[in-house]
Amino acid sequence: MKHEGYAGICACCFEPVRQGEEYRFPGSSATFHARCVELYPNSYSVKKERHKAELRAIASVK
Ligand SMILES: [Zn+2]
Repeated sequence: MKHEGYAGICACCFEPVRQGEEYRFPGSSATFHARCVELYPNSYSVKKERHKAELRAIASVK
């Protein structure tokens, strides 16, 4: 279900993310609040998506 004005559900806190408040790691489809990435850099889902983005960056350099 998609709500008008919302970018998705935050993979960190599972609350809806309003458009303009979202953050996605490069190449990732997982949606976060920009503030959750900032406040909880060590949360499992933030670390997982950051790690995947780093792997993609390394792979694209090769
Ligand atoms: Zn959040």
